[in-house]
Amino acid sequence: MNAYEVAASQFEKGARSIDLPPEVTRILAQPKNELIIHFPVRLASGETRLFKGYRIQHNNVMGPYKGGIRFHEDVTLDECKALAAWMTWKCALQELPFGGAKGGVKFDPNAYGTTDIERITRRFTHALGTNIGPDWDIPAPDMGTNAQVMDWMMDTYSNVRHESRQSVRHAVTGKSLLCGGSEGREQATAWGLSMCIDRWARDRHFDLAGASVAIQGFGNVGAHLAITLSRMGLVLVAVGDHSGYWRNPEGFNPYKLHEHVRQHGSIEGYPAGEPIERQEFFASDCDILVPAALALQLGSEEAKSVRCRLVVEAANGPTDPEGERILHERGIELLPDILANSGGVIVSYFEWLQNQRCERWERNAVYDKLQRRMEATFDTVLSRAARHGGDLRTACYAVALERLRDVYARRGIWP
Ligand code: NAD
Repeated sequence: MNAYEVAASQFEKGARSIDLPPEVTRILAQPKNELIIHFPVRLASGETRLFKGYRIQHNNVMGPYKGGIRFHEDVTLDECKALAAWMTWKCALQELPFGGAKGGVKFDPNAYGTTDIERITRRFTHALGTNIGPDWDIPAPDMGTNAQVMDWMMDTYSNVRHESRQSVRHAVTGKSLLCGGSEGREQATAWGLSMCIDRWARDRHFDLAGASVAIQGFGNVGAHLAITLSRMGLVLVAVGDHSGYWRNPEGFNPYKLHEHVRQHGSIEGYPAGEPIERQEFFASDCDILVPAALALQLGSEEAKSVRCRLVVEAANGPTDPEGERILHERGIELLPDILANSGGVIVSYFEWLQNQRCERWERNAVYDKLQRRMEATFDTVLSRAARHGGDLRTACYAVALERLRDVYARRGIWP
């Protein structure tokens, strides 16, 4: 199964669970717009290369399309379609006034220098033209992109559009603080994940102090999560990224590891711990396993070998349906992506609001607002699962799809 087939199968299961009307099912089963762009970039070396970019706008019945931009060599149309649909469900679940979108450029950012990445970003943003905008479609960071890339996108957009340059800063979120970003945006996804883990632990009477965690992916999400969880008393016993996997039963120092990744670009060469194979990583003896890198990492083989109590989906779509079935069969719980990693889009929404109001909220205010929303949604999902039975993913889809169904019922289909 590819990511799109996984997303389709999850949607079908969720739709069945609430008897979603066939006409709404047909609308939501497809993205509204699929944009594929080929654009040339003159690189710093003088060579001109052609790049392929995507922007998929899945649904906007709740508000402007919203979703990240990914720079990765494996970006495909199907992957963007899946990621865009997940954004629609995530925003509906969190009652944000946004729809879902996702985009990306198919290249390996690690193989290019800063000047080239800036040129690729600006040329792609220019090529997107009026397909993005603060009330139409609002990009944000995702794998391979960061606040610097968002600053370049926002700057390019505000230079080529005719509106006042400052009034369109909310065309992009995840920007740096200097360029109109929000306090806490960089940590937001990790904060949201840690709030979910904390809420789950309280519900299950599970003591997090001294509990062990294994994290795949040590980028924006994985590194900030490791740091946040260490403050809550959890110990990082295994970690992996594109360069390999490492184990340290006594625990890694997440601050030092983060600094190492900042300096060297990966966890490779970190002086503590022992190298392990990918399959050993998934079989790590730990309480909580967090895939925080790519989609489709937990298939049937991995699901049979995991030895944790809880899987937390920090990445989008890391578990395939067969892997998920095996986890359930083995009594291993799972916090689904559209709930667990939604902290990022929630604080992107806060950034969008702050830009429009010319405000700067304090870090504690952002944290508190995020926590209130995460906990309220988690409670809604828990009580839905308790009332109707079934797993947490199905409960999340039921809540999100009921909201979308009700909005379609009120608004109707124009004309
Ligand atoms: P990032 O680019 O900062 O980090 C990605 C990490 O994944 C890196 O450590 C990289 O080495 C690792 N990785 C890449 N290829 C790998 C491979 N083949 N095997 C193992 N590890 C590999 O990206 P990020 O922003 O941390 O995003 C990580 C995941 O979280 C993605 O699935 C993304 O969609 C999801 N997510 C991110 C946000 C956000 O706010 N950034 C929000 C919600 C969900």
